[in-house]
Amino acid sequence: MKTILILGGGTGGTIVANRLAHGLRPEDASIEVVSDSPLHYYQPAQLYIPFGEEDPRKIARSERKLLNPNVKFRIDTISEWLPEKQLLRTAKGEALSYDFLVIATGSIACPETVEGFVAGSDHFYTPEGAYRLYHKLSEFEGGRIVVGVGGIPYKCPVAPLEFTLLAEAFLTRKGIRSNTEMVYTFPLNDVFQIQSVVPVVRSLFEQRSIRAETFFNLESVDPEKKVVKSLEGTELPFDILVMTPPHKGAAFLRGHPMADDDGWVNTDRSTLRVNGLPNVWALGDTTNLPISKAGSTAHFEAPVIVEQIVGMIRHEEPAPGKATYHGHVTCFIDSGYGKATILDFDYDHPPAVYDPDEFRHLQKMAFNKLYWYLVPTAVI
Ligand SMILES: Cc1cc2nc3c(=O)[nH]c(=O)nc-3n(C[C@H](O)[C@H](O)[C@H](O)COP(=O)(O)OP(=O)(O)OC[C@H]3O[C@@H](n4cnc5c(N)ncnc54)[C@H](O)[C@@H]3O)c2cc1C
Repeated sequence: MKTILILGGGTGGTIVANRLAHGLRPEDASIEVVSDSPLHYYQPAQLYIPFGEEDPRKIARSERKLLNPNVKFRIDTISEWLPEKQLLRTAKGEALSYDFLVIATGSIACPETVEGFVAGSDHFYTPEGAYRLYHKLSEFEGGRIVVGVGGIPYKCPVAPLEFTLLAEAFLTRKGIRSNTEMVYTFPLNDVFQIQSVVPVVRSLFEQRSIRAETFFNLESVDPEKKVVKSLEGTELPFDILVMTPPHKGAAFLRGHPMADDDGWVNTDRSTLRVNGLPNVWALGDTTNLPISKAGSTAHFEAPVIVEQIVGMIRHEEPAPGKATYHGHVTCFIDSGYGKATILDFDYDHPPAVYDPDEFRHLQKMAFNKLYWYLVPTAVI
């Protein structure tokens, strides 16, 4: 019997585990998920916590209950990976060996890596951070809000844009929009990294009087003076600062020979194999692929890995086309006022962008509720 270890009980790891349990017989392989938390978080819901539209206590569920009963679940933190020995070490002192390994340990927001960030900036990249921001926005009576991206890559590329648009709608509802100035900062030379998306974002910003400050690479935050500084020398005063923190891969991957200094795993863009290792794959946020760190990315990548593992264990050729990832990503952009749009793209086809409408918003709201029943369970 083969041993399959899956690291990370988030979106990617859970889908892979459940798909493997459907595709293999219990006597074919032992499938085990190792995760550092008993809980599975639906992170897109964090976007709504600052506006009082989501309860931080309701965005996580038991990972054990989401997993197929034939999948084992171990709560422990991976602390070391020795690929040459096919071995992992954990924080609890266990040594775990494997025949097949899938790395899905996601990405971690690291606000502490920027001077003054923790004391001076808010963010919505953890449930706690999003809840602190809820209190701050509830008490806010007007002034200057700066929202920005503090480092690329970060998870869910559209989330800071969505936050800005939702905040604008929130301030309007609260009756304090007219006495609030809004500024959006981005490190590159435009407001978003995918060029075809830029005109729609620029038009929304113009309609809503949101000023964009591009080429703003976050250097530091001065919590006393309430000023955020860029490497380019721009200084922006703020009353509330909402920066997307720099992100990194899991600690055990940072500087690992199979990853870069920030822990992004060297992953083949088509097979999702790691550094050419025949029995190791990565998916989701942890890869070094130049695509969105998004749940939908992990969702579309999972079947590609499962097809390869099942084929190897059952000595079957993978079905044509099913063992190759083409870079498919789908993301909604909630633009506030009950409207949203959607981006759907892959390596070769940039997204076509349509004006936000009510139908897309309904779809996004429905997806947020149906996630638990459809996605980790691998129903879709
Ligand atoms: C505010 C916000 C809004 C978002 N909106 C969207 C959206 O609209 N659409 C979309 O597609 N995506 C969205 N995302 C992104 C999406 O949540 C992530 O891209 C997705 O969860 C990535 O899946 P993953 O499996 O790679 O990582 P995760 O789901 O983060 O799972 C990683 C797992 O690994 C575990 N882990 C980490 N380190 C270790 C270790 N050393 N040992 C053991 N276990 C470990 C973690 O506890 C976690 O369970 C959003 C994210 C945020 C924060």
